[in-house]
Amino acid sequence: MADQTDVNTLPDTTLIELTAGVVQSYLNNNQMQPDQVPQVMQQIHDKFAQLQGGHGGAEAATASTSPQHEPPVRPKNSVRKNEVVCLECGKTYKTLKRHLRTEHGLEESDYKARWDLPKNFKLVAKSYSEQRSQMAKDLGLGEKSAGRGRGRKKT
Ligand SMILES: [Zn+2]
Repeated sequence: MADQTDVNTLPDTTLIELTAGVVQSYLNNNQMQPDQVPQVMQQIHDKFAQLQGGHGGAEAATASTSPQHEPPVRPKNSVRKNEVVCLECGKTYKTLKRHLRTEHGLEESDYKARWDLPKNFKLVAKSYSEQRSQMAKDLGLGEKSAGRGRGRKKT
């Protein structure tokens, strides 16, 4: 007896046999009027046919959004102090954005959707983002706003 996942490779005659098998086991556990049997058989056959017909399409539709494998680390633990783990291939980078696009053809938003990460999740190593804000200060962005404040006090 084939199991349900093999249904889509089987010819229609086997589908009928499958249906008969299900009906038989159903009858073993349930009381049914004889005239209800064809109706139940039809419903079960339809369900199998639906599974058979819909299987390939459903698989193709989810392929782009669902991960095909287990992530190397838990998605929410993928950002570390000095590196970000790519959940697609397990490699580590300072930032993932460019790697995702060049290696996996994914935008950050696609990647977050695939791994169920929040939209504001930063795919940047913690020390790297700290470094960047330090760089911003070093470049005088902090001073500039302080200067503006002083200027306002004078007038
Ligand atoms: Zn990768």
